[in-house]
Amino acid sequence: MKDHHQEVNMYETELKIGIHAVKTAMRMTKLVQKDLSSDDAIIKADKSPVTVADFLSQAIICHYLDGTFPGIPIVAEEDSTALKEGKNKTVLEKIHYYINQDDEVKGFLSKDNLFQKIDLGGKLPDGTFWTLDPIDGTKGFLRGEQFAIALALISDGQVKLGILGCPNLELQDNHTGCLVYAIASEGSFVLDSGTGRPEKISISSIQDPRDMRFVESYVSAHSNMDMQLQIAKILNIGQDPVQMDSQVKYSMVSGGKAEIYLRIPNPKTPDYKEKIWDHAAGSLIVEEAGGIVTDISGKKLDFSVGKTLADNSGILASVPCIHEKVIGTINELKN
Ligand code: AMP
Ligand code: MG
Repeated sequence: MKDHHQEVNMYETELKIGIHAVKTAMRMTKLVQKDLSSDDAIIKADKSPVTVADFLSQAIICHYLDGTFPGIPIVAEEDSTALKEGKNKTVLEKIHYYINQDDEVKGFLSKDNLFQKIDLGGKLPDGTFWTLDPIDGTKGFLRGEQFAIALALISDGQVKLGILGCPNLELQDNHTGCLVYAIASEGSFVLDSGTGRPEKISISSIQDPRDMRFVESYVSAHSNMDMQLQIAKILNIGQDPVQMDSQVKYSMVSGGKAEIYLRIPNPKTPDYKEKIWDHAAGSLIVEEAGGIVTDISGKKLDFSVGKTLADNSGILASVPCIHEKVIGTINELKN
């Protein structure tokens, strides 16, 4: 018992600062999404988009984390390289504009320190470190749909804290936008939209596959949707699947809105390796809400091998009663 309580106290400050950082980034990214225009995005060398909001979110969160925990490295998805290029001047100017729209943010972020704050996220995984996806699901963000701000603390390969800001997700009835988080061994919570107090969340109690629902990526290139559909049919999953961008899929399973998040690698990109910032926060939140998270062979996700889940393939996050059956069905279809 003593160890357990020491651990809680150990991460109390991390949780408090992490939540404040994510909330601040949620406020800014919502503002950008509301008035989104075509010149808010840059296409990166790997052809994926990055926006005004990704850079703002990363700068804000890195500022808060580094301010309180200067010794904990931050492994974040973005860097300032593209922003320094003359051709992306409009995006940079937009960022400056948004900084000045928020009294809190303009108190610590400026033209002069923006690149430095963003690049605080340029560290490598080592020992105890943060991992951050400032906007997970950038494509959903650009469509005006789902995205998440994902922050996790990893220590010796174990996810200790996970925070997901989901500005457009309705997890509690009649309220759009939520922040969910988990502390290892302590459970998963949503911050109540009214009181701001944490409320415990848990996975769905449904046992009958006919009442279950799959959640999967909106972007069809990110998984094998045909095979996922086939598996749903074989298992008699009765509810229509929902497609959503980002780690809000993990929030859906944690809050009991879906029973199975399946991400089978797309056969067109067999060498794609999942990034740690795309799964660390969400996987802990599902586990602490009572679910099981593995790759599609049933292997635990290994966060100890660098910036990617190099030793895993795909993702299955589900309620325990169906987990083995899904793995079994994948194996049957593969053989
Ligand atoms: P989602 O909305 O769940 O599909 O997740 C978005 C994330 O998918 C992005 O942050 C990318 O890191 C990741 N991604 C990009 N390409 C692929 C791919 N070929 N297979 C799986 N995930 C990918
Ligand atoms: Mg992402």
